[in-house]
Order: sequence, then C-alpha cells, then structure tokens
Amino acid sequence: MTILTKLSHLGSRSAATSGKQKISIIVPVYNEERSLPMMHEQLQAVTTPLTKTYSFEYIYVNDGSSDTSPGVLASLESQDKAVRVLEFSRNFGKEIAVTAGLHASTGQAAIIMDADMQHPVALLPEFIAKWEAGAEVVVGVRKRYGKESSQKRFHSWLFYKLLSKISDVPVTPRATDYRLLDREVVDAFNQLSERNRITRGLVDWLGFQREYVYFESADRLYGQVSYKFGKLVGLAVNSFVSLSLFPLRFAGWLGIAITLLSGLAGIFIIVEDFLLNDPLGLKFSGPAMLAVLNMFWIGIVLIAIGLVALYIASIHSEVINRPLYVLRKHRRPRAS
Ligand code: UDP
Ligand code: MG
Repeated sequence: MTILTKLSHLGSRSAATSGKQKISIIVPVYNEERSLPMMHEQLQAVTTPLTKTYSFEYIYVNDGSSDTSPGVLASLESQDKAVRVLEFSRNFGKEIAVTAGLHASTGQAAIIMDADMQHPVALLPEFIAKWEAGAEVVVGVRKRYGKESSQKRFHSWLFYKLLSKISDVPVTPRATDYRLLDREVVDAFNQLSERNRITRGLVDWLGFQREYVYFESADRLYGQVSYKFGKLVGLAVNSFVSLSLFPLRFAGWLGIAITLLSGLAGIFIIVEDFLLNDPLGLKFSGPAMLAVLNMFWIGIVLIAIGLVALYIASIHSEVINRPLYVLRKHRRPRAS
C-alpha cells in the first residue's frame, strides 16, 4: 500500500469513526396501521442500547396505504426525531417503495425490513455485527415458513427452483428482503435505472461481500398478506424477465429440437419408404408424412422467432441500461 492510499484509507476510517456511524432502517408500509406502533416500539427498544456507537434514522415509505397508516406515521414522526416518512401518491408496490427508501437513506448502512414484524427486529444487532465484521451485504434467510399454508410454501419452492435454474446470477433459496446494505452497495444500487425491478434480484446482481443471518419466519400479526397469488405470479414473471433471458431464448431452443426431431423422422421416412420400398412394412400414411413435414416447418418458424428474440434480448439489455460493471471504492476491512 502506498503512503497515499494509506492516508486516504485512514481518512475515511477516521471520518467514519469520529462521529457516530449512522444506520438507516427502511420500512415499506402498505396498510399496516395495526402493526406500525408496535413495530416502531420494538425498533426503538432494540436500537436504544446501540445508540452509544450508532445513530439511527427510520425511513418509513408509505406506499399509498388506504387505511390510517399515514396518520400513524405522522404521529411517529412527531414523537421521534429520527423518523422520516416518505409518502407515495398511490400504491407503487413494495419494490419501488424500498427503492425510494434507499434513495433517501443517508446512513453508512441501510437495513430493509417489512413492517409486519415477520422480519424479527431482535436480529438487527446481528446484521450490524456481520456488517462490522466486513460484510457489505447481509441477507436474512428464512429457516422455515412459519404457519404459512403448504400452498404458499409450494409456490415459493417452485419460484426458487425455477429462478435458480434460469437466472444469470446465483440465487439463495429462502433469501428474504430483510437485508443490510453497506453505503457502497446502496450507492451502486441507486445507479440502477430499470423500472421493472425486484430489489433482491438487483442486490444479488450487484455482488459484493455477502453474509447471512438465519431466522425463523414469524407469522403476520395483523392485516393481510398483500401479495395474493396473482401478485406472486406477477412477481415471479418479473423476476424471470429481469434476471434472465432464458424465456426469450426458449422459443429458439424448442425450434431447434423440433426441427431436428422432425428432420430425422423425415429422413427416416424417405429412406425407409421411398428408397428401400418399406422393408419394415411400416406403411406410412400420407397424413403422417404431412404431419412430419408440418412439424419441420413449425420448427423452422420457432428458430426464426428465437433469432428475433436474440435481437430483442440485446435491445432489452441496452434499454435497462445497467452499468457495465460495478466498482468498489474500498474493500471493507475484515475482522476475522
Ligand atoms: N408492502 C408495500 N406495498 C405493497 C405491498 C406490501 O409497501 O404494495 C409492504 C408491506 O407493508 C410490508 C412488506 O411490503 O411491510 C411485505 O408485504 P407482505 O407482508 O404483504 O408480503 P410478504 O412478503 O410477507 O408475503
Ligand atoms: Mg409479510
């Protein structure tokens, strides 16, 4: 290490340690009037012992709630100076709400958590400890599914199975949105400009040094899960489309398979029936031959669609305009 980089390194550390490090806690809120007061109380209880070393800001993003959540948030804001509330004009969805929170966050680290207390607040110190030990992304991973229905369990199993098969970046099963992001990761995240977004997918795409915190998923205390089946399917489709080009290429691969199979069948028919005069006595009917020919053409058409898809894929990656690479300004020192 040159003396210069050593100095600048020291500079950044001392700047960070001279004041308290600030940690932003980002909570997307959609119709959570009943859990919000308890949620904030728990947050305060868990963070108060840490205030010797850290300061906290709580960013609640009200995603167009139709209940009294806005009023509850306003009263939290008036009671606690550390609370900041962002109000959406309508419901934009959790992913956008989290994005807005990350844009607004000013801490050296940001922690994203749900308002329904399914992400145990008590684990915050563990996230922070892993961050202090050098992790740049700390991901909460669910150990079990609580009392969630077997149907939901199946859906989420299927979701991860499919996603990890076709995604271009590795996906951790049961990884949740309960995450801590270092400032560097937040800055990189804030550069991403795509509109169709799945927060955890983008965070996975960004990479950086990862650590995991395992937790048992509690059951929702109040209100309803706002992700209905239709919404989940939408989320799944969105994840697939934004993380993978496989669905686009699928037509092409199918076309190649069909063309090959029907081509082989066609050659077999020509040789067996026309050249060798049907020694096996298969007596191919006219419609059967027509069917094979037809399959062949369908295969060719699918290959053509697959080729078009390749162009669409390249347009897609131009349009989402992700940075070509993500640079790290400095590597966080590792404790161990
Ligand atoms: N949420 C949101 N906008 C929505 C739906 C949900 O901000 O359109 C918030 C919700 O208030 C909660 C979190 O996102 O804090 C997770 O929502 P939920 O518990 O309904 O979904 P789950 O992930 O538990 O199935
Ligand atoms: Mg929930």
